[in-house]
Parts: sequence; structure tokens; C-alpha cells
Amino acid sequence: MTENTMTENVQFTSGFLKGKKGIVLGVANKRSIAWGISKCLSSHGAQLAFTYQGERLKESVEELSKTLPGESPLYSCDVAKDEEIKSVFEKLGSDFGSLDFLVHCIAFAKKEELAGRTIETSREGFQIAHDISSYSLIALAKAAEPLLEKNGGSIVALTYLGADKVIPNYNVMGLAKASLESGVRYLAADLGPKNIRVNGISAGPVNTLAARGIAGFTTMLDSHRNRAPLKRNVEIVEVANAAFFLLSPLGSGITGEILYVDCGYRIMGA
Ligand code: NAP
Repeated sequence: MTENTMTENVQFTSGFLKGKKGIVLGVANKRSIAWGISKCLSSHGAQLAFTYQGERLKESVEELSKTLPGESPLYSCDVAKDEEIKSVFEKLGSDFGSLDFLVHCIAFAKKEELAGRTIETSREGFQIAHDISSYSLIALAKAAEPLLEKNGGSIVALTYLGADKVIPNYNVMGLAKASLESGVRYLAADLGPKNIRVNGISAGPVNTLAARGIAGFTTMLDSHRNRAPLKRNVEIVEVANAAFFLLSPLGSGITGEILYVDCGYRIMGA
């Protein structure tokens, strides 16, 4: 059997997002899914703002953002802090005036919670994982609502199959992603009347900083590649194209959905 490779020209450009403004949260470095999505949205004409968590990451996000055309405002934001979220959207209001989309690519759990048995999850570990990885979507959606409702808008959050199925070592992050996915549906119901759509993308495993914190991540990549109908791992550009679809007018009839971009892995029973 020949190895399946990605179709050519998968990265295309259009003017579909020309004049649209969005904010992307979760760029840590050039391997981040958030950065792949940002490059794609920018190539379709969007103007982007970014957040970074603390001074440690400012330089990296600043350098990357400078490679995109136009000005990209940058704001410091630890999503565990309500005052930082509030300040981001105040500044965004004066920098952008209105907002067309928000991309949530943020997750965190303590390293010791991402190995061994889920039954060992500590109360604190549970709270941190849920606060950063799930509650943050609610807090950000609420803060962004006044800007998104001006012209209607779209929110996309990144999730993983561990929300639905037991994935060894994913543990408390699976519970947090289940909460995030439920949040996508509840927020879609709340914000739909304001023409704000909320969707999730469930990506197959991608080798990023966050992913490397999961024990046995390489095995996860191998097992996805071997079992997925497409016989390969997903590429960030494919996740990015799905985000573009959901955030652009092409996705205008879709809200409250979780779209799997995983080379089909989820459908396999064995
Ligand atoms: P990544 O590059 O490490 O991105 C994770 C981001 O979350 C980082 O920028 C990180 O910043 C940020 N973050 C963590 N705690 C934060 C906080 N308190 N406030 C603000 N930002 C915070 O990894 P990634 O894989 O691209 O992850 C992006 C999203 O995709 C996550 O939701 C992840 O669960 C999801 N996802 C990933 C995969 C995969 O296999 N990689 C598969 C499916 C879904 P710091 O570096 O400063 O902590």
C-alpha cells in the first residue's frame, strides 16, 4: 500500500476574510496550532490580534506576528485572571472597534496529571485543568460578546477526542475537553440570537509543546497514523483550513458543532 500523502495545494488563499478582524489566543511558538491557524486566516485577508501569556512568550509571539502583513496588536493575557481578560477586550475595542472572530487554542494541565491513572487526579489539578482549558472559553466569549455582536461573529475552540473516548494518559484533560465541548454548545445557544456562532475543532494529535507534556505522546501519534483511514497524522494546515471554514462566511449555517479533523481516526472501532 502506498503511503497516503496530503493533497497538493491544500494551502490556498482567498479574499474571504478581507476587512475581517480576529483575535487568536494560544500562540506559544511556530509549532502551535494557533500559529498555523493564524497564518491561514491572514492569508485569506484577516487582520489579527494576539495574546501571550506573560513576558516569557511576548518576544516569540511578537516575532511571529511581524511576519504577517499589517499591524497585529498584542496583549498580555493569562486566562486565569479576570482582570487581564477584561483589559484585553477594552484595548481591542479601541484598537479594532469591532470583532469578527475569536480563536481559542488554550489548554493546560499539570504534567503529573497527564500520566498514570485518572483516579489519582488531585482536586487542585482538576480545578486548574478545567479553569484554563474550559472556563476560559466562557470568560472570553463573555468579554468578546459586545465586540462580536456588532456585525455578528464566530468563535472556534480546539478540542481533542479524549473528551469522548478514553485515551491513555490524557486523563483530566479529557474531562476538561468534555466540559469545553459542552460549553461550545451552551455558548452557541446563548450567542446564536446575536448571530455569533460557536464551534469546536477536534484535531488529531499534532506535535506541539502542549502535546509533548502528555506521557507517551509519540505512541499516540503512531497509533493514530496506523489506525486512521487516511493512514497518516493530520497536518496543522488541515486544522487551519477547517478553522478558516468555520470562521468564514462559508460556515454561516453551522453552530454548536464539533468538527473532527483527524484523518478519520474517530470512526474506527479497532
Ligand atoms: P501549544 O502550542 O503549547 O499551545 C497551548 C497554548 O495554551 C500555549 O500558547 C500556552 O501558553 C497557552 N496557555 C496555557 N495556559 C494558559 C493561560 N493560563 N493563559 C493563557 N494561555 C495559556 O499547544 P497546541 O497543541 O497548539 O494547543 C492548542 C490547542 O489545541 C489546545 O487547546 C490543545 O488542547 C488543542 N489540541 C491539541 C492537539 C495536539 O495534539 N497538539 C490535538 C487536539 C487539540 P504557555 O506556553 O505560556 O503555557
